[in-house]
Amino acid sequence: MADETVSKNFIEQIIEKDLAEGTYDKIVTRFPPEPNGYLHIGHAKSILLNYGLAQEYGGRFNFRFDDTNPTKEKTEFVQSIEDDVRWLGADFKDEVYFASNYFDAMYEAAVKLIKKGKAYVCDLTPEEIREYRGTLTEPGKNSPYRDRSVEENLALFTAMKNGEFEDGAKVLRAKIDMASPNINMRDPILYRVARMTHHNTGDKWCIYPMYDFAHPIEDAIEGVTHSICTLEFEDHRPLYDWVVRELEYPHPPKQIEFAKLYLTNVVTGKRYIKKLVDDGIVDGWDDPRLVTLSALRRRGFTPSSIKRFMDLVGVSKSQSSVDYAMLEYCIREDLKPSAKRMMAVLDPIRLIIDNYPEDQVEYFDIENNQENEEMGSRKVSFSRELYIDREDFMEIPPKKYFRLFPGNEVRLKGAYFVKCVDFKKDADGNVTEIHCTYDPETRSGSGFEGRKVKGTIHWVNAKDAVDCEVRLYENIVDEEKGKLNEDGTLNLNPNSLTVLKHCKLEHAFEGAKKGEAFQFIRHGYFCVDSKDSTEERPVFNRIVSLKSSYKPV
Ligand code: ATP
Ligand code: MG
Repeated sequence: MADETVSKNFIEQIIEKDLAEGTYDKIVTRFPPEPNGYLHIGHAKSILLNYGLAQEYGGRFNFRFDDTNPTKEKTEFVQSIEDDVRWLGADFKDEVYFASNYFDAMYEAAVKLIKKGKAYVCDLTPEEIREYRGTLTEPGKNSPYRDRSVEENLALFTAMKNGEFEDGAKVLRAKIDMASPNINMRDPILYRVARMTHHNTGDKWCIYPMYDFAHPIEDAIEGVTHSICTLEFEDHRPLYDWVVRELEYPHPPKQIEFAKLYLTNVVTGKRYIKKLVDDGIVDGWDDPRLVTLSALRRRGFTPSSIKRFMDLVGVSKSQSSVDYAMLEYCIREDLKPSAKRMMAVLDPIRLIIDNYPEDQVEYFDIENNQENEEMGSRKVSFSRELYIDREDFMEIPPKKYFRLFPGNEVRLKGAYFVKCVDFKKDADGNVTEIHCTYDPETRSGSGFEGRKVKGTIHWVNAKDAVDCEVRLYENIVDEEKGKLNEDGTLNLNPNSLTVLKHCKLEHAFEGAKKGEAFQFIRHGYFCVDSKDSTEERPVFNRIVSLKSSYKPV
């Protein structure tokens, strides 16, 4: 089978080797977000990668909040992160782990290092610690407190825990090597004194572990085998290895780094998004122009489109930016066979069929999706007054314009041929209505072959049209014009949102559910906005237009 030859990515290769050599019997991966913001498309890569590997190799996937740093955490994010992970389909068996539940174990681990002579309490000030650390080109020098006895260290660390020292007065440091070429190994800090209320443990602790010490312990406690993180942690790996080795875990986890996902034409930095939200430029963290997972969901992206995207992007160690158009390609592929294709008029103009009986209504059977017969068809009503899109009529057409203009005949999709016989304008010269005549012989499905027309346009019956608002989106920043201004602020696209308030939909749209996606024929894919849409006044977001510049290789 061709699929068998698809080459494995470097992480799969490591896992397969570990399983073959019996390093681990079963793999365990994890997604460890810090609850300090909303998840974005980059996090989705990590979630799907870790969950996907666990699935592929019959292992386990843990969902764990890395909540060891109370300064930056907010409980409000815990729920949104959990919702997002669930939505993406990463099944964590309803078991949510919290790193803060391991504070006791981390404390015991620190005591163990002290007893082994591998950690010491240091009284240097933060400035002094920085001075003693040395630079990339010069080695550091030993702290004068480095050679305290085990007993003294144990007593001081206990006193740290018991609140006997001011915040920042003392730290616990690993005793590794102040001359190491890797600065992370120059006696890194393991614990600091800080009086902060933690969302889970309250005021139980006045000392908190540092990330580089806490993370490997969290992984080891949960039996994680492959601790997958992004490249900026590569230089921290020797410390990760040191921690699990010195703590003598029987099946130590290993850290593997991959390149972060970056997308063109979007804003991912938390700092920038927060400013857009605070300045009221976007409508919250789930504004459909953002790429937080809640924004993508609201815009109408599906979990399977995001999964397809990650599969296309792949996993590697080299940093690069992926074209946003590739994400659009994925949602289009996803919706092509599944979304109903219906008629919507975004900029309506009235079309009156002069020779069609005033009170007559007839129904046409129109297929829901030409590419998926199983989706069947629906009845669409037709009568004397319709709406068509303004751009489908021109008073003076340019060459190759095959839609409506005076004297020209077009097909109304799924209905009749109509010929433009007249039109009216207001004082400003805007076309206000178009008059046509229809030819009963051309009824769709009648097998009429008398003559051909070059243009087919969509329409909506004025009698039973559904009124709605439609929001069109463009990228919020343009990579080619530069994402940032000279003063460091975002160079925003002023046209990133267009609101159309008078759109007309065919009757079958009535009762569309929040989040439901459709193709508006000739306009693109749209979904019902989950926040602002109401039964009285549906609001649709354009997910993506129909055409793309992106072609998969
Ligand atoms: P940010 O700086 O955007 O807040 P983070 O790394 O601080 O990201 P965490 O909550 O600490 O956010 O990350 C949880 C997991 O998601 C980590 O394993 C991290 O490596 C991964 N991750 C974060 N951003 C990306 C990205 N752009 N691409 C892939 N993985 C990412
Ligand atoms: Mg972080």
